[in-house]
Amino acid sequence: MGSAVSEIHLVRASDLVGCRYRLRQRHTHPDVPPLPESLARQPQIDAGRAAVLSSLPVKRALGDGRGKVFTRVDLDPADTVAELEARTRSALKAGAHLITNGVLTGRIEGVDVVAEIDILARTETGTKTYMPVMISNHRVARASTSAKLDVVPTHRLSLSAPLPTGAKLRHHTSDGYRLALAHLLLGDFADGRAALVGQDRSRAYLAPVERFIQPLIETLNAPIPMEPRRLKQCASCRFWPLCEPRLEEMDDISLVFPGGRADSYRDAGLDTVQSLIDARIGEPSAIARAWRDNIPVLKRVPVTTVPRADVEIDIDMEAYLDQGAYLWGTFDGETYRPFATWDEVGGEWEEANFGDFWEWLMSERARASAEGKTFAAYCYAAGGENHWLKSSAKRFGSADEEQVREFIASDEWVDVFAHVRRQLVGTDGLGLKVLGPVVGFEWEDDDVDGERSVALRRAARLGDASAREMLLRYNEDDCRATRAVRQFLTDGAPGVPLISDVAP
Ligand code: SF4
Repeated sequence: MGSAVSEIHLVRASDLVGCRYRLRQRHTHPDVPPLPESLARQPQIDAGRAAVLSSLPVKRALGDGRGKVFTRVDLDPADTVAELEARTRSALKAGAHLITNGVLTGRIEGVDVVAEIDILARTETGTKTYMPVMISNHRVARASTSAKLDVVPTHRLSLSAPLPTGAKLRHHTSDGYRLALAHLLLGDFADGRAALVGQDRSRAYLAPVERFIQPLIETLNAPIPMEPRRLKQCASCRFWPLCEPRLEEMDDISLVFPGGRADSYRDAGLDTVQSLIDARIGEPSAIARAWRDNIPVLKRVPVTTVPRADVEIDIDMEAYLDQGAYLWGTFDGETYRPFATWDEVGGEWEEANFGDFWEWLMSERARASAEGKTFAAYCYAAGGENHWLKSSAKRFGSADEEQVREFIASDEWVDVFAHVRRQLVGTDGLGLKVLGPVVGFEWEDDDVDGERSVALRRAARLGDASAREMLLRYNEDDCRATRAVRQFLTDGAPGVPLISDVAP
């Protein structure tokens, strides 16, 4: 099944997710280097893989029949695809029990593909068939009372039979493609099962591989686009400096309405920004015109407002992946007061930190009430804060769950973004970072996105004082920016034109 196609032209599972045009760019411009952000992510991915690989068995345990042979073949990912494939195939033929960093290539649906397989685990019953096991950096399953999944401890892969547990697979398209590719390339060696190891490094969840095959086949058969189209992921894509000029040359409508947001306009024959402007269809045409004129934000209403109070607290929370909230930052207009834990989240430290934050917030509210003053706490896009408020109250006894729910539902908890969205429209969204410059707010550090904050949090956990300072500074700035946006709305969004003023 080996292929003579050059490595660069082999299609990987990652080429099949999100922007399909990226594959064309990758093939045409193989020398464009990865972005620093993606390089910065690599150590974390490597550490996760290393943790799983080091926990795999190297021999049989007592009770497994210690006398029987157990072979584990660890391949070196630094080798070429051709070398790795040859070694993987010979290890398969020899019946190795575990193969790590295996590689298989082949042709599926007329496409030359490569599967990088973290672990190949020989069937525990002794048959010479294999289950591909992929290591993922996200959660691959969640607990369930109704669904069951088979699971094997990673230190028992190829040795123990899987046992059912109450869990449900979380759907990640890329994981499905990786498993289906590996399964198909295994050919006669395929066991028919596949498994995923996620953030819980100690468990491999078995996935029914069959259901991933049809989506893979359909994707492989889909034509690769001839031209780029702007998507959300362009913002973090190394090919953007090549795609942007082309999109501008085409005056492509995705420059204003990325991803599927332009579908209805395209269906109506509006493929360019100019055609959308000329169509004069109200708000979409006004947005296109504003984009053309470099106007970032427009007003939907003549008078903008947001609820105000005598005592106002702006809040911004930082969570570490989906493991827990480690920072609740508050700003009362004068003092920034962070409630932070640099210890592991999910246990007593997070509980104590959340308890301190909640107690402080409720005491501020009670004090305002005792003084006959109105009170409001604000955040920008409350989804994350609401999730962790509820989840923290549920997990920990440090706050009353009912009180938290009542607070979230009250008029004293204000999502500023909801008010912004009702009254403004942006040519590049209405995120806090977009509105910052419009309302005259500057972040001291302007390069901390979600990805970077995860890396900073890891460094902060290990005691890096500058990482801690940066996270706090950034959180403080988000609180202050929320306040600045509120003031801007109260002031009537000065300098922002009305939609009707720019509508063609
Ligand atoms: S910049 Fe955007 S369109 Fe171009 S390859 Fe990357 S994701 Fe695709």
